[in-house]
Amino acid sequence: MDKKENRKPVEISELGEFGLIDHLTKDFTVIDKNLIKGIGDDCAVFECGDICNLVTTDLLVEGVHFNLVYTPLKHLGYKAVAVNLSDIYAMNGTPKYITVSVAVSRKFSVTAMEQLYEGIKLACDRFDVELIGGDTTSSMSGLFINITAIGQAKKEDIVYRSGAKKNDLVCVSGDLGGAYIGLKVLEREAKIYMEDKEMQPELEGYEYVIERQLKPEPRRDIVRELAKRGIVPNSMMDISDGLSSELMHICKQSDVGCRVYEEHIPIHEQTESVANRFHMDPSLAAMNGGEDYELLFTVPMDKKELVEEISDVSLIGYICDASEGKKFVPRNGAELDLKAQGWTSF
Ligand SMILES: [Mg+2]
Repeated sequence: MDKKENRKPVEISELGEFGLIDHLTKDFTVIDKNLIKGIGDDCAVFECGDICNLVTTDLLVEGVHFNLVYTPLKHLGYKAVAVNLSDIYAMNGTPKYITVSVAVSRKFSVTAMEQLYEGIKLACDRFDVELIGGDTTSSMSGLFINITAIGQAKKEDIVYRSGAKKNDLVCVSGDLGGAYIGLKVLEREAKIYMEDKEMQPELEGYEYVIERQLKPEPRRDIVRELAKRGIVPNSMMDISDGLSSELMHICKQSDVGCRVYEEHIPIHEQTESVANRFHMDPSLAAMNGGEDYELLFTVPMDKKELVEEISDVSLIGYICDASEGKKFVPRNGAELDLKAQGWTSF
């Protein structure tokens, strides 16, 4: 008997999401000469005449990525599109088309599906994207949504995770940690509701963080502001798994280190106050929470003044030599190694 068959099966959790992707795709190499980037960035990139196409895809599973007790289907449709467009913007591209595939169980009515597609339509209209196809099938349990987004960019404008350079400034858009804190609020309310269906959710004072969780906005505005100033970042990605995890991707793929300063990390006042009420550290939520869908990018030092002109962008640190490590600098206390404690489905 083959020795392989005697091996104890490896649990997926031992590899983690990124380890699993590396493991499963290790034998797939880039063959086509028009393929510029395969697996390993926010989008795949391939050349088509004068223009490059960008492709990204995302699968959302009920009970894993969303809970319908507190997620209106219209919001879910919007978010499912938004997170894919965010990956196109993270390459400094323009989204053009999406395909939407859904698997639905019998518990969903036509009206429910209409609500989902209302949200999809809203996102398409807002970001000038066209729905061009997909597949619809049945599911034995719950709802699955798979969206593929296709975008375009000029070759010279595309920004990868791998381009960060020593002395680059590390920048983020918007504020961080809100989506995670919003999720905590929604989970608490869902638990109360499940115990007593008469209970009305207590959501006053939580509007901002809940919106951050339920309705993230891809940062097309930031991509446009950068372009207006002629800035092409050296590296960029969107923050879906948490700042720590994303910084580590950029550093690893660019073969550099970094310093990021707690005092410069943008946190909304409601994120801060709700986190405190939940006895959670707001900075930890910002570093590890994920799902904020803000942009993380690095620019050369000489672009500092131009970047500072853009409202809603914060300079949070700098890129250094790989030998200096990847460190988080707390307000008081010693530097800490960055850890990818980000979101993992497994
Ligand atoms: Mg991404």
